[in-house]
Amino acid sequence: MMTALQIKPLRGTLLTNELMARHTTWRVGGPAERYYQPADIDDLALFLQQLPEDEPLYWIGLGSNLLVRDGGIRGTVIATSGLLNGVERLDETRVRVESGVSCAKVARFCAREGLAGAEFLSGIPGTMGGALAMNAGCFGGETWKLVESVETLDHCGKLHQRKASDYVVGYRQVSGPANEWFVAVCLKLQKGDVSALQSRNKELLERRSSSQPTQLPNAGSVFRNPENDYAARLIEAAGLKGRCVGGACVSEKHANFIVNTGKAQAADVEELMTLVQKKVEQVHGVRLKPEVHIIGEHGEEQA
Ligand SMILES: Cc1cc2nc3c(=O)[nH]c(=O)nc-3n(C[C@H](O)[C@H](O)[C@H](O)COP(=O)(O)OP(=O)(O)OC[C@H]3O[C@@H](n4cnc5c(N)ncnc54)[C@H](O)[C@@H]3O)c2cc1C
Repeated sequence: MMTALQIKPLRGTLLTNELMARHTTWRVGGPAERYYQPADIDDLALFLQQLPEDEPLYWIGLGSNLLVRDGGIRGTVIATSGLLNGVERLDETRVRVESGVSCAKVARFCAREGLAGAEFLSGIPGTMGGALAMNAGCFGGETWKLVESVETLDHCGKLHQRKASDYVVGYRQVSGPANEWFVAVCLKLQKGDVSALQSRNKELLERRSSSQPTQLPNAGSVFRNPENDYAARLIEAAGLKGRCVGGACVSEKHANFIVNTGKAQAADVEELMTLVQKKVEQVHGVRLKPEVHIIGEHGEEQA
């Protein structure tokens, strides 16, 4: 267990006891022992080189698919959102995007450049790194269908170039070389018409806000869709719309969303998830699997 870090001069910012509720879209989560905001990829590599080998690491983008428990995180969180923020066109059809760039920015950039294929990203409220980790997708589009190669950093701060074929990719699931995290991706797109692409981005955003509870803090779909069915349908049919635990409620607008009505704790969200799983299994005989990633320590009341 690490006590103090002997860090050489770095250009990023190291925070301690940083409240994770500030960095997740659910607005819940206890403090991270250490929270590093890198200046760029080289700075992050240097930071990682100086960490003890056994330091637990958690990478975070926009925290839009994360439930951080109330007891917080032992170890170091690496923040990327808006920090690893480069986007550049490489040639006729390829674009390099760093992992902290928001998906919306990638969609806008590609449309402006007349590059088609990334429009679905316009409504995903996460970073490119999160989209790679989750194989995020919607409206028929999927992140890894666009990936040609990725750049990763390992626990020791060593940079790797990986091909898309080095990863096994499925529905909201990606596995590849262990203990490596994404710092950039090369996307391969098709040529398209700028104004048609910009209208498509706008249309997809509008379709989304009419069907999802965008007013209250949430983390999108909580459970993965089971084969040949929809988690939202099963939850609604089990009579769970509007069911609450503490400040966490199953959304009235979209049954696979759990919203924070104001004062929810991570424990409320997790308890409500368990309740939903039990009830859906009782009624339909299907065990729902979480899509959101749950990390961190239980709070004192639960310990
Ligand atoms: C309103 C709403 C709507 C949503 N709609 C959709 C949707 O239509 N389709 C969809 O797929 N998802 C959707 N989501 C879920 C979420 O936006 C996506 O999963 C998104 O890709 C997560 O990105 P993030 O940057 O927020 O990742 P985070 O939530 O910060 O992290 C998610 C996971 O990715 C890992 N990770 C993050 N960055 C990196 C990195 N650089 N390298 C390696 N691992 C990393 C984290 O450790 C964590 O395990 C929605 C969420 C919300 C709140």
